[in-house]
Parts: sequence; C-alpha cells; structure tokens
Amino acid sequence: MTAPTRYDAIVVGAGISGLYLLHRLRTMGLSVLVLEQASGVGGTWFWNRYPGARCDIESMTYSYSWSPELEQEWTWSERYAGQSEILAYLEHVADRFDLRRDIRLGTRVAEAILEDSEDRWSIATDDGERFSARFLIMATGCLSVPRIPDIPGIERFAGEMHHTGLWPHEGVEFAGKRVGVIGTGSSAVQAIPIIATEAAQLTVFQRTANFSVPAWNAPLSPEMVSERKARYDVFRRWARTTTAGNPWNTRRQSVWDATAEEREREFEERYAVGGFCLHAAYSDLFSDPGANELLCEFIRGKIRERVRDPEVAELLCPYDHPLGTKRMCVDTGYFETYNLPNVRLVSIRERPIDEITESGLRFGDEQFGFDTIVLGTGFDALTGALLAIDLRGRAGQSLREKWSEGPRSALGLTISGFPNLFTVTGPGSPSVLSNMMVSIEQHVDWIVDCIDYLRRQGFTAIEPSAAEEDAWVEHARAVGEASLYPRAKSWYMGANIPGKPRVLLPYVGGVGTYRTLCDAVAERGYDGFVLR
Ligand code: NAP
Repeated sequence: MTAPTRYDAIVVGAGISGLYLLHRLRTMGLSVLVLEQASGVGGTWFWNRYPGARCDIESMTYSYSWSPELEQEWTWSERYAGQSEILAYLEHVADRFDLRRDIRLGTRVAEAILEDSEDRWSIATDDGERFSARFLIMATGCLSVPRIPDIPGIERFAGEMHHTGLWPHEGVEFAGKRVGVIGTGSSAVQAIPIIATEAAQLTVFQRTANFSVPAWNAPLSPEMVSERKARYDVFRRWARTTTAGNPWNTRRQSVWDATAEEREREFEERYAVGGFCLHAAYSDLFSDPGANELLCEFIRGKIRERVRDPEVAELLCPYDHPLGTKRMCVDTGYFETYNLPNVRLVSIRERPIDEITESGLRFGDEQFGFDTIVLGTGFDALTGALLAIDLRGRAGQSLREKWSEGPRSALGLTISGFPNLFTVTGPGSPSVLSNMMVSIEQHVDWIVDCIDYLRRQGFTAIEPSAAEEDAWVEHARAVGEASLYPRAKSWYMGANIPGKPRVLLPYVGGVGTYRTLCDAVAERGYDGFVLR
C-alpha cells in the first residue's frame, strides 16, 4: 500500500459548495483537494438534466455573491435559469478561478475514518486510493442520492427507464412514444409539460397532489440586468436577512388583520409576480393552520381555473398537507398539460402501483403499455449522501449508528465525536428551506473562518461538546414542532424513504436568524465547542 496523499483539507463534492470551498480554502493558503464522483463539476446541475430542469429561485439571486467581478461579468438570460445555463455558469466559475487543477473527478469517497491520535481524517475512495486530511468537509448536496422506488418488478421493464436525477447526457427521445411518469414533485412538474408536447401518449401517476404556482419565466431585459447589477450588494444583503434567503417583500402582518378583499388582492398580486413570493404574503401562513388554509384554497381555486375537466382538477388539488410543508412547485404550464388529449392523470393515492411489467405497469385491473418510464420519485434527502459514506469518528463510532434515530449536530455544521468534520447545508441547518446559494455561502464562510481561527490560534481540532449538540438538536426540534412542517408526510420529514427516522431534517428558524446564531458562536470564540 502506498502512503496516503496528505492535504490540509479534503472537500467531498464539486457542486456549488465544493467550488466555493476550494476557492476560499486555497486563497487562505491551505492544500486542498476536491473529490467528486461525477465526471464533471456542478453537482445537482450536472445530474439533473431532465427536460424542463430549471431553478425555481431567480437567477440573479441564485448565483454566487462572493466575487463582484463574476457578478458583473456573467449575464443571466432568463428570470429563472435553466439547467444548462446554470451548469455553464458553474463550469465558467471552475475555469475563471482556476479550480479544476485541484478537483479529482470520477472519484467516489467510500469511507472516512478519524485517526484519533492525530485528529486527522483518513479517506479512501471506491477504488482504494487513500488520502489524509486535517479537515474533511462534506459538500455532498442535500438532494444527491436518487430514490428508485421499490415497486415490484421494476427491474423487469424492457423499455427505457430514467430517474430525473440521473438523466442521460445525450437526452431522451420521446417523440411518438408512450410514456409513463411516476411522481408529481418539483422535478416531474417541470418535466411533464415538456414530455407531453413530444410524446404520443403521456400517463402521469400521482400519489400526492402538490401545490404549484406559475413561474412566469421570461427573458431578462438588458435594463433589468443592469439595474440589478448596479445594486447587487443591496439585494444580496437583503436576501441574507430573510427567512428563505430571497429578497422578497415579506409582510409582517397577520392574515387575520387583512379584510377578505385585501387578502385576495395580496394573493393575486403575488400570484401574478410568480414563484415563491406568495409564501411571504403574511406572517402567520406557516404557523397558523387556518391562515395557511386560506392560501391553500386560493391556489386550489387557481388549479380549478387552469384545468378544464372538474374531476381531473379535483384530483390535482392537494388537501392532505398545509401549503409549504411539502415543497411547493413552481411551474410553466403544468396544470394546463392535463387539458391535452394525449395526457392522462391516474391517481394512485388509494393504493400503490401493483407492479412494473416487462412492457409497462399494472395498476389494479388496468395494464399500461409504455416505451419509456420516467421516475420523478425524489431523493434520500439531506442524510442520504452523508450516510452513503462509511464515516467513523472518535473511538470508531460510525455516523450511521450515531444517526440511527435521526441526525444530530451542532448548528447543522459540526458533529460531536467527529472533530474537524464539517457538513455544508446538512440536516439541522436551513438548507433546502432556503435559497441554497445564500445558505451555501454562509456555511462555507463559517467553516473557512473557523479553520482560519484554529490555525491562527494554534489549534488542530474542533468539535462541538455533547451539551452544545444536545442544545441545538433540542432548539431545532422545538422550532420545528411550533411549525406546520410535521403535519406532512414529506421528504423534509424523512417520510419518503422506508425505515428512515421521522425527524424534521432542515432547521425551520429561517436563514436570517440562523446566521445570527452561527455568527454569535464564532464571535464568542466557538463557545460550546472543544478546541484542542
Ligand atoms: P419529490 O419532491 O420527493 O417528489 C417525488 C414524487 O414521487 C412525489 O410525488 C412522490 O409522491 C412520488 N413517489 C415517490 N415514490 C413513489 C412511489 N413508490 N410510487 C408513486 N409515487 C412515488 O422529488 P423531486 O420532484 O425530485 O424534488 C425533490 C426536491 O428537489 C424538490 O422538493 C426541490 O427541493 C428540489 N427541486 C428543485 C427544483 C427547482 O428548483 N426547480 C426542481 C426539481 C427539484 P409522494 O408525494 O406521495 O411521496
């Protein structure tokens, strides 16, 4: 065996987080290597190439803020950027900041074991290569382990089958094909309208109806771009203080303090703007079930307007969860797709698909013949990518054991018993409930500043005390309990993966509050953490 190559820091993942981490750690003078399992950089935007894949956070908000030059040089073409444009942006960043020379592609980390006596991590890849690093930073993404459903017979299907999160680079030909889509989450809601225009027949299998509002995507005019570019810093600062990391006008008013007429006008105005700004219409939409139901009914009304057949419209109306407790979708022509003659909606709410067969699938008495099946069935969110690696901390404790009843961390950034290990946008942090760009930058900055502090103060290791971790887990639980999120069977709650503990995974306190809490820990010299 050859000796492991030694680095100050190893970063796992070359998506949005990994690229920024590499830039910052390298600028600080550390030796850094990024290990990435894909054959290219870009993370989420490398893998999710399904038709219609697009970010539903606006492009001029969903972009790095750490380089004013980059902000000015890069010009987004649309209000919501498509997958290929975001990937091109991240590839540009990798080139522009000369990052590629420290990124190892096609390299999957299999295990990471703490060398207790040295406070260093020993990292091994799938093909047996070994590295040693003082700091190990998991930039592995929140939605990076696709979930293939365990529908009986799934391996028997003789046609083409693709998961949205593992889409072939060469694309998929739908013209003239009979296509089945399983799932109606954000990915499928984007793909379905496009597949419908190409396929001969499209059948959508819906287990849970989802709330969705129009994106109203459009090209960005040169005037809009230059106006934003001139005031980028203002918008960025604003986004960082909000709940979800977006510069929206957030009303502090309770929905009950508005008249029915005022409320309707407010909802209509925000619906006309499009996207998630509806979430910020009133202060109590996500804490008061009655307030939330008013917005639910407003959106159901829109679904009924958009879908011609009242029975189909009713199937598409969600009734089983408060709005936002499963991620709302942002669509372009989604509900209208069900007005097309070649599209059929099949509700599988009452009972699951019986089996997938060689030629399609069987649901009850009906056999469906398909050339192609698209799985829009989601991901093992937040913990999936971390637990896919055999991570072992102090005294050989495995993270899988430690998290067997749900993830535990301090600030969603550090784990007691796992010194010098950091997670970016992991469970226990706002992550998927926010504009990921804002959360990623905040995490990367906190982690790199922490490493810088250790070096300047002559410390070699940091980890949260057990008490600090307990306090964070309890705080996150209490904030979560006070919200409506636990009322849904959602991937936020781990409910989409059989056997996964039912724990609210993201921190629901909002990115502004969360940032203040993280900053306070750093300002107090990492009070509550053990530094060696
Ligand atoms: P998802 O939200 O988890 O949706 C998965 C869908 O598949 C759900 O409708 C689910 O039904 C269904 N499903 C899962 N297993 C099934 C089974 N065995 N039988 C039938 N139906 C099954 O996954 P996603 O759409 O890929 O989105 C995941 C997240 O990625 C989003 O919530 C969002 O955070 C992010 N995303 C963002 C964008 C964007 O920015 N535009 C786009 C795509 C994704 P149930 O609801 O009943 O479980």
